[in-house]
Amino acid sequence: MSVPLVVTDLDGTLLDHDSYSFAPAAAALATIRERKIPLVLCSSKTRAEMLPLQAELGISGPFICENGAGICTVTGAGVDLEALAPPRSEVLAQLRVLREQEGFRFTGFADMSVEQVAQNTGLSLSAAALAAEREFSEPLRWEDSEQNLERFRCLLEARGLVAQQGGRFLSVAGPTDKGAALNRLRLRYVNHGPVIALGDSPNDLPMLAAADIGVIIKSARSDSLQPVGPGRVLRTRDPGPYGWQEAMSGLLDEFSDSAER
Ligand SMILES: [Mg+2]
Repeated sequence: MSVPLVVTDLDGTLLDHDSYSFAPAAAALATIRERKIPLVLCSSKTRAEMLPLQAELGISGPFICENGAGICTVTGAGVDLEALAPPRSEVLAQLRVLREQEGFRFTGFADMSVEQVAQNTGLSLSAAALAAEREFSEPLRWEDSEQNLERFRCLLEARGLVAQQGGRFLSVAGPTDKGAALNRLRLRYVNHGPVIALGDSPNDLPMLAAADIGVIIKSARSDSLQPVGPGRVLRTRDPGPYGWQEAMSGLLDEFSDSAER
């Protein structure tokens, strides 16, 4: 009855910001697997990047890709994709118009070779190739002023697009977010207990707000995050997977105690 549903961001949350390792969270992950607690990955990463990660983590349930733009479910026949945003081709077409008309300076994944994506992300070449397989969103390195960024955001909004700040990039996509995707996905888990969401960046705020327990993992931007919505907010002392382990070991103890009572 009180088995929670755990939803987590990846970069800077379950995965180390620099090494992309989840090893420091291994103990909590093992408990989650043992107790069959559903663990949903919710990231700005692509479907192509997240599939191998699901396998590495030993999980097979649905996951949320590209900042909430898609919900992927692995079936015997392949991957079923529920699209919650327009395709990337439409996003790229709008970005081209904005760059030509307004002269904004930015570099997106579409402007980079796989080698350049690797340099900008710290990913290996093979991992960068998977990161470049985008279906809904375009990550940008903003190379213009803060003032122009505000104007860029307004012009995007007028075109039905939004820019969300992740740990490394500004991600442009249709008007969806991790919170909307989580609300959609949680309908599939009818008998679960509270939703625990973990994140470290502004693009995680809608997901934290849609949860019952929001865990803010320590990061360069985490102190400014003020989610409105969750009944309970926890902040970790440590960053990345160390913070993940710190928060989840406490919460897993709590839920194990309440299940025994
Ligand atoms: Mg993150």
